[in-house]
Amino acid sequence: MLFAAIIAIAALVIVGASFVVLRRGRHEGLTIDPPDLTAVVDIGEVATDVEAPGVAEEATPVEDAPRPSFRERLAGARSSLTGFFGGIFSGTIDRDTWETLEEALIRADVGVGTSTEIMEAVKVRVETDGVEDASEIPAMVKDELLQRLSGFDRSLSIDVAAAGGDPGPAVWLFVGVNGVGKTTTIGKLAKRETEDGKKLVLAAGDTFRAAAAEQLTMWAERSDVHIVRGAEGADPSSVVFDAVESANARRADLVLADTAGRLQTKTNLMEELSKVRRVAEKGSGTVTETLLVIDATTGQNGMSQAKQFAEAVDVSGVVLTKLDGSAKGGIVVAIHAELGVPVKLVGLGEGINDLVEFDEVEFVNALFQ
Ligand code: GDP
Ligand code: GDP
Ligand code: MG
Repeated sequence: MLFAAIIAIAALVIVGASFVVLRRGRHEGLTIDPPDLTAVVDIGEVATDVEAPGVAEEATPVEDAPRPSFRERLAGARSSLTGFFGGIFSGTIDRDTWETLEEALIRADVGVGTSTEIMEAVKVRVETDGVEDASEIPAMVKDELLQRLSGFDRSLSIDVAAAGGDPGPAVWLFVGVNGVGKTTTIGKLAKRETEDGKKLVLAAGDTFRAAAAEQLTMWAERSDVHIVRGAEGADPSSVVFDAVESANARRADLVLADTAGRLQTKTNLMEELSKVRRVAEKGSGTVTETLLVIDATTGQNGMSQAKQFAEAVDVSGVVLTKLDGSAKGGIVVAIHAELGVPVKLVGLGEGINDLVEFDEVEFVNALFQ
């Protein structure tokens, strides 16, 4: 009898406790029920400020590692250019030299149009300077690459006045297809910009899956940065709007806004992104950077996706991720030449310190070492 009573009390306590947990989850925006997408979303209930909720389900961030050197991480990219140059360094320049040069540039992901331009430019120099020895070609190619990468402003701005806005938080919007590294980049920047003395708020604007907000939350915790998130399926614009207002109330300098890279159709996604941008500036925020994240390993396929994004939103810079992997470095040249937008940051790994500012001289030197 006594035993049965103990069991009954224990069961009551467990049910009660889980009810409290569920209520807490709901309050913190971690809605457990599937979202009712047909209902009119009450913004105030959906997007809730969350301070370190400690939910971790997937994509555990990689351990801290020291800041990588550009040269160390570019091994893969390097071989695609230098490997080839090793072969044509010697002998007299002939018709084959040009074909092989153009082919190698295309293979290195420089893009057909730009590869031909570079090849033609080197050809002209060889003719006007009367160069006969193929060993002089790499230096000329290097010059041509550098020329196409020079003269861009690679700084990241939080100057709201310069962007035509009123005083209030600056917003950096991150766009790009699913899996390119948007959330990871925001996580790395949260640390970097906080260490730089800025006060940050993260906006979990990828509401497509609950896991996306959880992944960003883990990064927020690592740098002790405030995050605003909404329920799965919530309007991304409303999350960004609330994050901006939260940042303004806290007198934060900068909002890093994550977005989803997928929707039912391409048109929907592009409309969604221009709406997010518009709403980010509806309250007290000013978008000072729209950063297109591109996965370097996707090559020319990534380039054509990038062009679609660049058409939908006014991109101010590119974050090129996964340049540590099997990427061929030539995509950097294609981005500058074809999108007319500078690569501002480069991802060289999955760790929190694996993000470096792009430097064209260092980059080209690394390719030819
Ligand atoms: P998102 O869908 O655009 O938000 O992409 P995520 O940030 O979730 O990243 C997708 C995957 O790419 C994750 O496994 C990341 O760890 C990985 N990733 C992101 N940036 C880099 C990078 O610079 N180098 C490498 N090797 N992996 C990266
Ligand atoms: P449009 O006609 O679609 O451009 O409508 P609005 O510009 O008025 O708002 C677009 C979206 O911005 C809404 O669906 C909300 O997600 C968001 N939004 C606008 N105003 C507010 C606001 O006051 N609070 C919140 N949380 N979100 C807002
Ligand atoms: Mg993401």
